[in-house]
Amino acid sequence: MTETIKTDVVIVGAGPVGLFAVFELGLLDIKAHVVDILDRPGGQCAELYPEKPIYDIPGLPMVTGQGLTDNLMEQIKPFGATFHFSEIIASLEKTADDRFLLTTDAGTRFDTKVVVIAAGGGSFQPKKPPIEGVEAFEEKSVHYAVRKMDVFRGKRVLIVGGGDSALDWTLNLAPVAERVTLMHRRDAFRAAPDSVNKMRKLVDEGVIDLALGQVTELIGKDGVLQAVKAKLADGSTHEIAADAMLPFFGLTMKLGPIADWGLNLEENLVPVDTEKFETTTPGIYAIGDINSYPGKLKLILSGFHEGALMAQAAARRINPDRKIVFQYTTSSTSLQKKLGVA
Ligand code: FAD
Repeated sequence: MTETIKTDVVIVGAGPVGLFAVFELGLLDIKAHVVDILDRPGGQCAELYPEKPIYDIPGLPMVTGQGLTDNLMEQIKPFGATFHFSEIIASLEKTADDRFLLTTDAGTRFDTKVVVIAAGGGSFQPKKPPIEGVEAFEEKSVHYAVRKMDVFRGKRVLIVGGGDSALDWTLNLAPVAERVTLMHRRDAFRAAPDSVNKMRKLVDEGVIDLALGQVTELIGKDGVLQAVKAKLADGSTHEIAADAMLPFFGLTMKLGPIADWGLNLEENLVPVDTEKFETTTPGIYAIGDINSYPGKLKLILSGFHEGALMAQAAARRINPDRKIVFQYTTSSTSLQKKLGVA
C-alpha cells in the first residue's frame, strides 16, 4: 500500500474554482493537494469549452476557457500546490481525531484536516465504446486515461478517437510504445490543428499507423488483449495486433462518489452556509458549481468569492490560535513576499 500523505487541505476538483481556492489558501500560508479525475486542470472550462470566449470574469473583458485556466495556473504558481491528475477521490471517511481520510481509485491516501469539495457538476466519466465484453479488458488492457506513460513502454498501443485526448496521447506515446495505431471512424479530426498536422507527419514518416474504421471485437484472454477486429472505412474487416487499447470517446458528467459521503445532498448539490461555505460536516467545505444555498448563481465569479471566504474559515480550523489579519495584495509586503513579488 502507498504511504498516506498528511496535509492540511485536499481540494477535490481542479476546475477554475478549485484552482482559485489554492490562491486564497496560499495567501493564508496553507498548502493544498489538488485531485482531479481529468488529466489536466481547468474543469468544465478546459474540457467543455477551451476555445469559447467568457465575457463575465471581472477585469478580463474576454478570456477563453483555456486562457482562464492558464492564467489561474500562473497565478497560483507561488503556492506550490501538489496536483494529482487522472485520479478520482473515491472515498472519504472521518477519523477519530477530527481529520479526514481520503482515498483515490489509484490508491493514493490523504490524511487531512480540511476537505474542500470543488467538484463542479461531478466527475467527468469516460464514455465507453460499444464493444461487447469490453469490461473484461478494462484496467488490464483497455484504459480510458493514461496515468503513467511507462505502462505502455514497448507495447503495441491502439488509440481510438479523433479529439484532443486521442491526438495528444498518440503524439506522446509514439516515442514510448513499440507501435502506436490511431483509429478514427473518418479522416477528419476535432483535435487542435497543430496536433493533427503533427500526427499526419508521423504517419507519413512511417512512425505510427492511422486506420480509418471502428473496432468491432476484442481478441484476448483473461483481460489480456492480443488484437482487435476492426471494420475499416472501405467495408473490409481486419485484425490489428494490440496489447493495449485507449478509447477516447469523450466524457459525461456524473455526481460519482460524492453521493456516498453523507453530505445531505439536495438534488445532487451540497448544501452549505454562506459565511464559511461549510457543509453539514464541520471541516468539509463545498465551493463552486457543486454547492447550493439561497440565491446561488452557477458562475465562475461566485465560486471565486466562495473560495475566499472558505479559505478564511479553513485557516481558522487549521490554526485555531493564529490571528488572521485582513490585508490587501496591493499594499501588504507580507502578502507580496508570499507571491514572490517583493
Ligand atoms: P468544474 O469546472 O466542473 O470543475 C470540477 C472538477 O472536479 C472537474 O475537473 C472534475 O473532473 C473534478 N471532480 C469532480 N468530482 C471529482 C472526484 N470525486 N475526484 C476528483 N475530481 C473530481 N460560467 C461563467 O461564469 N461564465 C461563462 O461565460 C460560462 N460559460 C459556460 C459555457 C459552457 C458551455 C459551460 C458548460 C459552462 C459555462 N460556465 C460559465 C459555467 C462554468 O464553467 C462553471 O460555473 C465552472 O466551471 C464551475 O467551476 P468549478 O471549479 O466549480 O467546477
